[in-house]
This record gives sequence, C-alpha cells and structure tokens, in this order.
Amino acid sequence: LSLTDDALDRLPAEVGRPRYDRSEVRAGIAHFGVGNFHRSHQAMYLDRLLNDGEAADWGICGVGLMPRDAQMRDALRATDGLFTLVLKHPDGTREARVIGSVIDYLYAPDDPEAVLEKLASPQIRIVSLTVTEGGYNFDPVTGEFDLDNPAVAADLRGDAPPATTFGLIIEGLRRRRERGIEPFTIMSCDNIQGNGDMARRSFAAYARAADSELADWLEANVAFPNSMVDRITPVTTDDDRAEVRERWGIEDPWPVVAEPFTQWVLEDHFPAGRPPLQDAGVQVVDEVEPYELMKLRLLNASHQGIAYFGWLLGYRLVHDAARDPLLARFLRRYMDDEATPTLRPVPGVDLGEYKDTLLERFGNPEVRDTVARLAADSSNRIPKWLVPVINEQLAAGRPVALSAAIVASWARYAEGVDESGEPIEVVDQFAEELVPLARSQADDPLAFVKNRSLFGDLAERPEFTEPYLWALRSLHERGARATLEDLV
Ligand code: NAD
Repeated sequence: LSLTDDALDRLPAEVGRPRYDRSEVRAGIAHFGVGNFHRSHQAMYLDRLLNDGEAADWGICGVGLMPRDAQMRDALRATDGLFTLVLKHPDGTREARVIGSVIDYLYAPDDPEAVLEKLASPQIRIVSLTVTEGGYNFDPVTGEFDLDNPAVAADLRGDAPPATTFGLIIEGLRRRRERGIEPFTIMSCDNIQGNGDMARRSFAAYARAADSELADWLEANVAFPNSMVDRITPVTTDDDRAEVRERWGIEDPWPVVAEPFTQWVLEDHFPAGRPPLQDAGVQVVDEVEPYELMKLRLLNASHQGIAYFGWLLGYRLVHDAARDPLLARFLRRYMDDEATPTLRPVPGVDLGEYKDTLLERFGNPEVRDTVARLAADSSNRIPKWLVPVINEQLAAGRPVALSAAIVASWARYAEGVDESGEPIEVVDQFAEELVPLARSQADDPLAFVKNRSLFGDLAERPEFTEPYLWALRSLHERGARATLEDLV
C-alpha cells in the first residue's frame, strides 16, 4: 500500500493516522532542515494538536536547500507529505503512526522565489530550524560568524537568488518589513545550549553584513526563543524501511524511527503567536536554562561515562554497556552525588524519575546506538558537559571522585590501546595532540589534564588531582572493572 492521503483509510487498524482533514490545514510554520529529528519531534507534536482539532493554521511547510534534501522532496511528494513514525520500545514492540502535519515542501534550488514569497506571507508566523550545529556557521576557532563561507559570501554578494538559510530568511524578513507585515519568530530546535541565542547571533551577523539598518530592525523586532529538545532519533536504515513494509504493508520511501521518550521545553517568546503546544505535552516555560543543564549534565555527561568505561569493559553497543549492573550503578552514583547538586531547581520535573528514565533509555536494545559514537569528539563534550560539574562541585567543597574517574577513563582511552592491547581509534579533532599527551602519562600522570584549554586549572587542584590520579593508576594497574568496583 503506497502511503498517500487516499490510502489513509486502508491502513491497518493498529497504525495511528491523521483524523483531521489535511486539506483544511494551513501552513503557519516554515521549517528548514526537515530531516529525521524534525519528523520524530516537532512534526509529531503538531500532528498531536491537529488530531485534537487544534492548530489548523499551524501546519508545516518544509524547506530544503542542501543537495541531499532533493531526496526528502521526492519522498514527501510521493506520499502527499505523509510519513510513518515508528517508535521502538525496549521490549521489542513497535508503535507506528502516520504523521500528517507537514502539508507542503519547498526545495529552494527548484524555485527560490517560491520560498521567499512563502516566508514573506503573513500566514507564516514561525520559521523553525534543525539545520545541525554547523548550520549556524560559526568558526570554531574565532567564535565569529564565518562571512568567508563561500555559500554565505555568494548570498551576501547577491548576484543570484539566495541559497543559504541566512540569505533566504533575511530576504524573507526584508520583504515583510517593506510590506508592513510583522516579522515571524525564528525558533531553533538544534541541540545546542542557548540555541535561540546562537540563532540570534548568526542571523544578526549575516543581516549586519547585508544591510545594517535591517540588522537593527531584526535585533529590535525578531524573537529567538531558546529550547531544549530530546528524542534519540537514529538514521533510518533499509531494515527500517523493510520492516514498515513487512509489518504494516506500508510502502513509505522514508519512514523515521525513534525511541519512545520525547521532551521539548520551550521558552515562551512568540510575539507573532504560536500553536498551543502545551496541549501536546510541550513544557512552555519562561526560562529554559535549568532544563538544558539537567539534560547536558545528566544525559550527555553520563553518555561520556558510558563511552570510555564502556569501551574499556569491552562493550561496543550503548545498551549492552548501560545494562552492565556495575556501570549502571556508577552512572547513577555520578548523577546523584555529583551532577544533581549542581543543577538549579527544574520546575515540573521529578529528577529521580528523570534519572531512572535515562538509565532505561540508555538500556533500550532496539535503538542500537554505538559506544564509538559517544566516544567521538570528546574534546567538544567533556569540557562542555562534565568540567562545569567538577568546577561547581569543587567551588562548593563537594566531592568529585566519580567525575574525576570519567575524566581519567577518557585519559586512559585516549592512549589509543585497550586493556588487551588492541588499538583504539581515537576520533577527535585534536587527536594528534591528545594521544601523545595521554601516552606521556607514564612519565607525568597529570600530563593529560594539564591541557588548560580543555581543563582550565584542574591539574593544580588537589581535591581533583587526588581522586583523578587514584582512578588513572587503578585503570592502568587493575583495569576498568576493578576501578568501578572500588568506586561504587
Ligand atoms: P538529519 O541529517 O536527518 O537532518 C538534518 C537536516 O538539516 C537536513 O535536512 C539537512 O539538509 C539540513 N542541513 C544540514 N546542514 C545544513 C545547513 N548548513 N543549512 C541548511 N540546512 C542544513 O539529522 P537529524 O537527525 O534530523 O538532526 C538534525 C539536528 O537535530 C541535529 O544536528 C541536532 O541539533 C538536532 N537533534 C537531533 C537529535 C537526534 O537524535 N537525531 C536529537 C536532538 C536534537
């Protein structure tokens, strides 16, 4: 059965589907970067509202601009914009729902003018983004918006129609201003702390380079709410496509699969209005930061606890590592004793339950996340997620033994050899510096943490170095399992 509007009535009963008349839905949101995460998350929340008879003027018009997005255009064209969302429960059961909230899709290279007029139309009141971290175009070294990026530079020259997110959205805003139409809100849903602030900085920097008066107007009039988004959404595989066909008889060129858990915490800053997302389970709050800290220090930092200890224990899949009772106990102790004391009160969240759920999510065998993925790019992760926990604990005179052990497990892993002498491929933009540093630990056990750009002054603080040196020595002399046994 090819997935289309006409086929909705004939889907198997167990498959959820739109109960609303999709032809009555109008697009109020233009979304850049319709990939897997947007479809498992934001589009699903809007679909919930539509099913409840709400938000009929908040349908989604997808916008794609990367070469790869032509595939999404074709897939959505074949299905009238419908797609199957498959939730993979830890016990192996599956839950399938056809999502109907994406009612239109524009591929900018086909017709940039159509995208610009869509953005200029008064009906669009939110432009949302999941364009990845790199999509904000900041130079990692200087921290500045990269005006030399060739696509951005071409848009700024303006001798062809705009082709980047920045060129398109800023030109859309310029037309609205010229026509006296109020600006839309720009809502980043990328996985970045302070994603709204980040989006504001990029769009303002681009506008500033294009037209400083427009930049002043943007800074005064356009809202950029921050948000925390969470749902583990892996890449769709051919097996996933085959499963949708075999289990439910649905021919869907691009289904999306995800874990059952989902969370969206959103700052309530939408001068041009917004859908009643709180009715769909979104936490709409005044300030997102406490939720971000909770997620980064509990979920993301624990992922680092799984990464190196997990690898050294011989695990290659996240759920196998997370189901090792010793490692699970260690992670829970890290969360309770060291991460939780650094969090601010998180309104409406029971932290105990949140942590229980995290351990269950990590242990979901259906998602098949890899330990190697978590261990990659550590020099971007440990300093952002774990070092702040250590600093705050030290400032308050509280213990850091478990956090220090995670840092030591990274230092041990970065030596590039596991406990049976097998090589480890250290994937990190600074691998060429880090691996030799880690290997010099034989002579100077503090060598790795003396790297100030990653660790600040931690190597000079005995409250940190004492448990760190203990863990590192124990990892070398007795291995990961014995070290964890002593720690918990
Ligand atoms: P994806 O690869 O399926 O989709 C990414 C989309 O962004 C594609 O449409 C791509 O063309 C577009 N894109 C990439 N670079 C761009 C650029 N420079 N300009 C414009 N568009 C660009 O990836 P995904 O799984 O949907 O994840 C996207 C983002 O969502 C992540 O980077 C992350 O910030 C956020 N997120 C993902 C997850 C997850 O588990 N997958 C969870 C939370 C948050």
